[in-house]
Amino acid sequence: MNILNTTFNTPYHTAPFSKIKNEDYMPAFLKAIKKAKVEIDTIANSSETPSFKNTIEALDFSGEELDRLSSIFFNLNSAETNDHIQKIAQEVSPLLSDFSNDITLNESLFKRVKAVYDQKSNLDLTTEQSTLLDKKYKGFSRNGANLSEEKKTRLREIDKQSSKLKLNFGENILAETNKFEMHLTNENDLTGLPEGAKEAAQQLAESKNKEGWLITLDYPSYIPFMTYADNRELRKELAISAGSKAFKGDALDNQDNVLQIVKLRHERANLLGYKTHAHFVLEERMAKTPETVENFLNELLEKAKPAAQNEFENLEQFAKDLDGIDRLEKWDGSYYAEKLKQKLFSLDDEQLKPYFKLENVINGAFTIAERLFDLKFEEIDTIDKYHKDVLTYKVTDNKGNLVSIFYADFFPRAGKRNGAWMTVYKPQYIKDGVNDRPHISNVCNFTKPTKSKPSLLTFNEVTTLFHEFGHALHGMLANTTYPSLSGTSVFWDFVELPSQVLENWCYEKEALELFATHYETGAVIPMELIEKIKASSTFHEGMQTLRQISFGLLDMSWHGQDPTAITNIKTHEFKAFENTKLYPDVQENCMSTSFAHIFQGGYSSGYYSYKWAELLDADAFEYFLEEGIFNKVVAQKFKDNVLSQGGIEDPMTLYKRFRGKEPRPDALLKRAGLIEK
Ligand SMILES: [Zn+2]
Repeated sequence: MNILNTTFNTPYHTAPFSKIKNEDYMPAFLKAIKKAKVEIDTIANSSETPSFKNTIEALDFSGEELDRLSSIFFNLNSAETNDHIQKIAQEVSPLLSDFSNDITLNESLFKRVKAVYDQKSNLDLTTEQSTLLDKKYKGFSRNGANLSEEKKTRLREIDKQSSKLKLNFGENILAETNKFEMHLTNENDLTGLPEGAKEAAQQLAESKNKEGWLITLDYPSYIPFMTYADNRELRKELAISAGSKAFKGDALDNQDNVLQIVKLRHERANLLGYKTHAHFVLEERMAKTPETVENFLNELLEKAKPAAQNEFENLEQFAKDLDGIDRLEKWDGSYYAEKLKQKLFSLDDEQLKPYFKLENVINGAFTIAERLFDLKFEEIDTIDKYHKDVLTYKVTDNKGNLVSIFYADFFPRAGKRNGAWMTVYKPQYIKDGVNDRPHISNVCNFTKPTKSKPSLLTFNEVTTLFHEFGHALHGMLANTTYPSLSGTSVFWDFVELPSQVLENWCYEKEALELFATHYETGAVIPMELIEKIKASSTFHEGMQTLRQISFGLLDMSWHGQDPTAITNIKTHEFKAFENTKLYPDVQENCMSTSFAHIFQGGYSSGYYSYKWAELLDADAFEYFLEEGIFNKVVAQKFKDNVLSQGGIEDPMTLYKRFRGKEPRPDALLKRAGLIEK
C-alpha cells in the first residue's frame, strides 16, 4: 500500500515524511487524481436537484487526498528538493493542470453550479456560503466555462504550457544560484567583512575541500559581502552575477520564458473577455482595477521621489567624500548606505546581532502571540520531520485545545529555494461538526550557527521571522467552515496584512524587552539601541519606497498592457524603470529574468500588494498604538474580524469591522517619514 494514499496513522494525522520514498509520489498522484475524478463525477452526474449542499459544498470538500498530497510534494519541492523531485514536478504539473481544467471545463458540473448560482437570492445562505457560491461560480466562468469548444481547447493548451514555463523559469534561477561561487584565496579580499561572515565563507570553502573562502549568491553569503566588503571590484563582480541570473543567453536563460509567459497570459485574458491579464487578475482583488493600482503607485511615487532623490544625492556625496567615488553604482548602494547609517546612528547589524539569538527571537514571537491571542507553543518530538533542522510545535489555546501544528525550518540548504515563506500542509475546516485544525509551516534562510557562535539574526532577519510568523498566525487561527476560504485564502492584496502588521512589534520597547537579550550576558537590549533601531528604521525610506514602487510598476508594465509587440526584455524593462531610476543601468543585468514573484510565484499584477498591505498594516497598527500594543480588546477584534475569518467576506468589510473605519494612507506616510508626524 502506498502510504501517500492512506489515512495517515500518525499523531494529529501529520505527514509521515520519513516513510515517503521518492518513487511513491507518481503512483500516489495518479491514484489520488483518479479518486478525485470519481468524486467530481458523482457530483456532476447526480440525479438529485442541484442544491448548495450537494453541489457547492460537496465540491469544496472533494479531492482531499489529492490536495494533501500536492501540499506535501510541492512544499518539499521548495524546501527540500532534488533532481528526482524536480523531474516528478515536471511530469505531474501538466497532469494537475489537466485535472483542474477538467473540473472547470466540465459542462454538466458547471450546469449544476450555475443552477444553484442563478437561484442564489432564494437560498437563505450564510455570508460564508454566499461567498463560497460566488467563488465557485467564478472559478468556472474565469476558467472558460462559458467559452466555445474551440476556445476551451486553446485555454487548456495555454495553461499546460504556462505551468511548464513557470517551473522551468524557477529551475533556471535555482541552477544559476547554485552554479555561481566566488573563490577567494587572499584574505585581503575579505577586508571589511565581519568575523562571522568570514568564518561562514571559510567553512563553506572547507565543506567543498577548497582553500580560502567561498562567497555565493545565497542571501546569507551575498548580503554581508555587498554590505561590508571594501573591495569594490569584487562587489561589482558579485552584484553583476546576481543581477544577470538567467540573462546570459545560455541554456539557463529566462528571456524566452518571460516573453512566452506574458504573451500566453495576455492571450488567456483576451479569450475570457478581459482587456489584459491585469484586468483579469484584479477583478478578484481589493484594488479591483489596473487604474486603481497605477494611481495608488503613482501617488506614492509622487510623495517618495523627492525624498528618494535627496537621499541618493546625499549618499553619492558621502561616497565621494569618503572614497572619492565619482558615480554611485548599484554595487555601492548597500556598502555606503551601511557606512552612512553607522555614521548617523552608529548602529550596525553586528552590534544588534548578539541580542537576536534565533532561539530567543522565536520565543519572543511565541510570547507575543500568547499575550495577544492566548496561544501556547510547545515543542514536540513525536511528529515526523522532512529534515533534521526542522522544529515542530503543538499550538494550543488557553483552554488546552489544539489550535495548530507548526513546523519551523530556518537554515539554508542546497535543495531549498531562496527567501522566506509560510505554507500549509493541511488547511483548517469544519467537517461533520468537527473543527479540523491546520498544519502550518514557516521556511526561511537565516544565518546558520557556526562552530563558535549560535545563530544570531540580523535585524532584517528578525523582522522576516515576525513577518512569516504573522502569515502563520493567519493560518493557525483560521476558523471557517470551508477549506477553500480558510486561513490565508484571501485576496492577494489583503494577505500581507497579518504578516506586515506583526513586524511592528519588533520596533517597540515593550516587545523587544521580552526577547532581545544578549546571548552571552543575558542583558536586555539597551534603550539607546532601541531608540536607534526606531530612528534608523526610516533611514532611506524614500529610496526603499521607490524600489518597491519600481517593482510594482515593472509588474504592471508586463501585465497591464498588450505585450505582443515586446521583443526585447531589456529595452522594455529600461522603459518601465524610467520614472523610478536612481542608479546607472548595468547593461549585463536584468530584473525580469529572475523576478520569481511575478513569473514563478503568484504575484503577477500583484506586486503592488506589498505597499497596499503597508497601507493597511500601518493603519491597523496605529490602532494598537492608540490603545496599547498588548491591548487585549484590539487584539481580540483583530483575531475575530481578520485572523480567523479567512476569505469569507470582502476584505474591506472585514477590515472596517476591525478598525471601525476605512484605512487611510496617513499612518503609512507618517511612519515612513514622508509626511510630518
Ligand atoms: Zn509575506
